[in-house]
Amino acid sequence: MNFKDELKKLFETSPELLESKIVGVVGVGALGSFSSMILSKLPLKKIILVDRDVVEEKNLFRQFFYDVEDCKGRIPKVFAMKEKIKSKGGCEVEARDINLDADECSNLFEECDIVIDGTDNFETRFLLNDCSAKLKKPFIYGGVIEMKGSIFFVDSGSGACLRCLFQEPEIGSGDTCETVGVFPSLPPIIASMQVMECTKYLLGMKDKIIRDFITIDLKENSFIKIKVEKDINCECCGRKIYKFLENENKGEILCGRDTLMVKLRKERFDYENLKEKFRKDKSFFENEYLFEFESEGYKFSIHKDGRVFLSKINDIKNGFSIISRILGF
Ligand SMILES: [Zn+2]
Repeated sequence: MNFKDELKKLFETSPELLESKIVGVVGVGALGSFSSMILSKLPLKKIILVDRDVVEEKNLFRQFFYDVEDCKGRIPKVFAMKEKIKSKGGCEVEARDINLDADECSNLFEECDIVIDGTDNFETRFLLNDCSAKLKKPFIYGGVIEMKGSIFFVDSGSGACLRCLFQEPEIGSGDTCETVGVFPSLPPIIASMQVMECTKYLLGMKDKIIRDFITIDLKENSFIKIKVEKDINCECCGRKIYKFLENENKGEILCGRDTLMVKLRKERFDYENLKEKFRKDKSFFENEYLFEFESEGYKFSIHKDGRVFLSKINDIKNGFSIISRILGF
């Protein structure tokens, strides 16, 4: 039996339906790398991977598809993941090494049939939620922390959205897997469940999709389903105020990493020129995606699309003044 026959038997419907579908995966760390690898085995038209980070050695214990060579080469995760999928004969992959701002997020939702959340922060999830509600396409929330994981299928056209459940991004402790850790057996479980619900949706099996908020606690061996009621006063899906789509990029400190990320405006950014300026620096490093150097004890990593990562910074204002002094922006 080939895989298509297997799918047909398992889902009792035609797997050909998948051949025209495009799935977006936002964040290809512990969670998103698993969901994208599983998705790539389905006969999909394409998957689009979005992430803004490079592969880091300290995360390899829970990001099984990356290796030490990816870290040494400072390879952006999306390109590393695309290569892994290609080497295993998966479906077509498009890699986007970008920060998912409101415009990029809207573009992604327009192109995709559904989006899978592999992020670890609520700012991005609320942006996904706003785009999902506005463009009337579902996304599947996924969260992993310590030994607990959650999944929630969000389609505000037919049920509650993420903001019916969580009012603001600050809700909860704000802990992420970068700050408190996650046991490596958890991400594959949550990613597998996300892909399962995604597959049911793409195959048109909407009545089979689990619409509850599911939490799994591996330490307690518990599996809890909570029914989420639609809030008619919800700012997003009720009152249709999409405030996360209006946020302009003011820079952000990446959680648990003392790193500031800023996107330089296209009209003022010339990658090649800037690179030449720092080429003679003895700490200079480049690959086909980015260049790096150190100055005044700070490490700069500059990507082709204008993203600047400045490490050893935990204050946005101070970070901006260093960027303006050293890069001249
Ligand atoms: Zn809502």
